[in-house]
Amino acid sequence: MLHGYTPPHRFLPYLSWTQIAELPDKENTVIVLPTGATEQHGPHLPCAVDTVICSGVVGHALARLPANIPAFAMAPITYGKSEEHLHFPGTITLTGETLLATMNEIGESVYRAGFRKLLIVNGHGGQPQVMEMSAREMRLRHGDFVVVPHSTWRMPNVAGQYMSEQEKKLAMHAGHGETAIMLALAPDTVRMQHAVTNYPPQFPSKLLSPDGRPACAWTARDFGPSGVIGDPLPATAEQGHAILESLAISWAAAIAELHHLRWAARNESTWSRAHHSGHVQNSLA
Ligand SMILES: [Zn+2]
Repeated sequence: MLHGYTPPHRFLPYLSWTQIAELPDKENTVIVLPTGATEQHGPHLPCAVDTVICSGVVGHALARLPANIPAFAMAPITYGKSEEHLHFPGTITLTGETLLATMNEIGESVYRAGFRKLLIVNGHGGQPQVMEMSAREMRLRHGDFVVVPHSTWRMPNVAGQYMSEQEKKLAMHAGHGETAIMLALAPDTVRMQHAVTNYPPQFPSKLLSPDGRPACAWTARDFGPSGVIGDPLPATAEQGHAILESLAISWAAAIAELHHLRWAARNESTWSRAHHSGHVQNSLA
């Protein structure tokens, strides 16, 4: 059914509205929104990669969360802002404006249900800015709403120990890490016999790009016809299981932290008084 990698009892859409209405301690219950994309990932990986990985990591994290930590996954967002891949068939993209409106309206719905902690686990590198804009918008609308946008991979994990220095520096898409974890999460969809290596050229400005990564806006086609930006060839399922396990442990700990966290936002009247008297001090900056 729809829950995918998430244990059914941790999947919010399986609850009835009356069950949701009756949940205890809703303000400290963590609602997790996996946010993926549907976009080309080279000839060897399916277009669903970013959605599979963020949902898979969230599902495995929730599976190892202690029973006394209240947290639920929402159904993932499967379409994101993938315009840098639109030259390849199979890429289904929203504009930034549409994704921002979608995030805001989902956030508003989560808040309306009585929840006050929303964790956005983003699997696609082309849209963290949109998540951050939406989280800020939610904060401006609701001073007691804690919205945390975060990237699936930006959590302690063991992926780096398998990767070359070049891969760590230049890989961005369908490379070693994504391929390995897909071999663990959805091996039937990976076709290693079609895997190719492709790195972007060094960006020719030391000041604008000390590490050589492209400093200007790019589309995947700029780097070659395959759509790959990295080296998937050394990836194995064994590595993928270890990476998945390490990410799940870290994310379970992060969800528990968010449950326990008490964030005292400055209330709006305090802010507007400070603002009008000319002493704006933003404790969140
Ligand atoms: Zn990806």
